[in-house]
Amino acid sequence: MSPNSGSAPGPLGASDEFTVIAGLRARFEAAAALRAPGGDAPPVGDIWIGDDAAVVTLPSSGRSVLATDLLVGGVHFDEAYSSLEDVGYKALMVTVSDIAAMGVRPAYALVSVAAPPGTDFDLLGAGLAGAAGECSCVIVGGDLAGAPVLVVSTAVLGVAESGAPPPLSRGGARPGDLLFVTGPLGRSAAGLRLLSDVASGAGDDSALARPPASDLVRAHRRPVARVAEGEAARRSGANAAIDLSDGLAGDLRHLAEASGVGVDLDVVPVADGATAEEAMTGGEDYELLIATGDPDELLAAFRGADLATPLVIGRCTDHPGHLAVGGDPLPTGTWLHRF
Ligand SMILES: [Mg+2]
Repeated sequence: MSPNSGSAPGPLGASDEFTVIAGLRARFEAAAALRAPGGDAPPVGDIWIGDDAAVVTLPSSGRSVLATDLLVGGVHFDEAYSSLEDVGYKALMVTVSDIAAMGVRPAYALVSVAAPPGTDFDLLGAGLAGAAGECSCVIVGGDLAGAPVLVVSTAVLGVAESGAPPPLSRGGARPGDLLFVTGPLGRSAAGLRLLSDVASGAGDDSALARPPASDLVRAHRRPVARVAEGEAARRSGANAAIDLSDGLAGDLRHLAEASGVGVDLDVVPVADGATAEEAMTGGEDYELLIATGDPDELLAAFRGADLATPLVIGRCTDHPGHLAVGGDPLPTGTWLHRF
């Protein structure tokens, strides 16, 4: 797209738009080829990066699931705490996490980047390609523009195969459903706290290289979407799911409101090295919260897929608006953009 400001005509060089796109294209196609050994990348008849729009073959004929998300420098990440490779990785994973929350595998992604002069697209592209390879999602297009701050927007398409349970929504939970999370919470918020402590001179830099601090920092920089877990939950007949991006308290409230149920939590699993507050309201966990009326099926599906056992945290009730943890009101803190 041609801008009306913020750029200038001139000779092509190492850092011009088309050279950068060619480098990213090679990287993304290489990541896709690794996932299709012996096959063409793109498959014959499909068109990926380089045309006006991408042409893809859907992996099955079921319902398509689409999500988009964006990361903004200074709002969603601090380049003092995360490398450009981390930012690229996370930018794709957070959108894949929304697809995973619907119980669906990601198939294709579009990536749009607005970046300041001097941005290292090799690093950013390596992170994006790493996440794409990790979750078998092919980056087939996008856009690139100059801007005062780095913004990375990703859009992901997934497909729920026909004949299987439909995509999970956050509105399907019923009174009596048990609530599970796919792992202990608070890791990302604790990792950010440790990084910020070190930056302010209050923390011990060398401790960041050892567990549990190293795990917490990694969870902040490189969250991994729970794709297999979401798929197992959907196939097991779970009623609802949501990914924990804003924090358990906030996302639980979203699920309860959308489903018209109340919630009684017994316990909140706190990750090693995190605080109870970070687990409840820290956000960016990217674990899944799942509601099911058939917990045995859910546990069997996770076992069958060789996944870590999900942790039961409470149940849904028929008292909409009543949200409690251990008998106390659920905290109200959550991540919120203000305009
Ligand atoms: Mg979400």
